[in-house]
Amino acid sequence: MARIPEDKIDEVRLSANIVHYISQFINLKKAGRNYKGLCPFHTEKTPSFVVSPEKQIYHCFGCGKGGNIFSFIMEYEKLSFFEAVQKAADFAGIVLPKEKYEPEKQNYFQKLYRLNEIACSHFEKNLFKSKNKHWLKYFLERGLSEDTIHDFRLGYAEDRLNTLTSLLKREGEDVAEAAKLGLIQRRDNRDEYFDKFRHRVIFPFHNIQGKIVGFGGRKLREEQQPKYLNSPESPVYYKGKTLYGLHKAIPAIRSKGYVILVEGYFDLLRLYENGFRNVAASSGT
Ligand SMILES: [Zn+2]
Repeated sequence: MARIPEDKIDEVRLSANIVHYISQFINLKKAGRNYKGLCPFHTEKTPSFVVSPEKQIYHCFGCGKGGNIFSFIMEYEKLSFFEAVQKAADFAGIVLPKEKYEPEKQNYFQKLYRLNEIACSHFEKNLFKSKNKHWLKYFLERGLSEDTIHDFRLGYAEDRLNTLTSLLKREGEDVAEAAKLGLIQRRDNRDEYFDKFRHRVIFPFHNIQGKIVGFGGRKLREEQQPKYLNSPESPVYYKGKTLYGLHKAIPAIRSKGYVILVEGYFDLLRLYENGFRNVAASSGT
């Protein structure tokens, strides 16, 4: 049997609107932030079945049944988990991969995510080193709080040639793959690498599952080129397919029913700072 990759399952769960799905079978009425209706799993006269568009879950306060869109389909339509994922994917308009589950390919993707994750936490830690406090101030002076900085995992790449490269080597990671991700660069004709992002503030790009797929690095000195250095396309990162900040915005977009689209990272981060959650930015990604 074909297996559906975990990433794809997450994508389906996040994309299929549970309120719309359940509304096909049950009359749901808006009640504050949630929707309410008569529970399909036990007999009742007053609605105690609640669906949350923000959390994408349902719960019955009468019989205790609850879960996500997959458990609803399994329970209500008496289908297997595999069939439920396929059904929800059809509903969300997501095409599930037809090919057989290939552990090697999955491992390859995991490796790329891990390399990006190592780089992301490296840049994050740099930003909070006391010798780099000037660059933390760079964000604070632009109106961002430390909470927002943490939420978006903003960072700093130090003005050195060989910090991320040696970290990756120490961890026994595949430096050739890290170079393909644009994290480090190979010296001409030599088996040597150096850090690609240097002396830049770092904006990590997340996919909707919250995994790191790439980075945008803004220059901090006038003579640096380019102004924004962005990760190249890779098997985990397609330009034009990712909106900056979308991974944080999905629940709010769902409950508000619309998205505020802005251009730059800071446009988005400032709105987020001021309590707007249904925002995404087109910049860099
Ligand atoms: Zn019930």
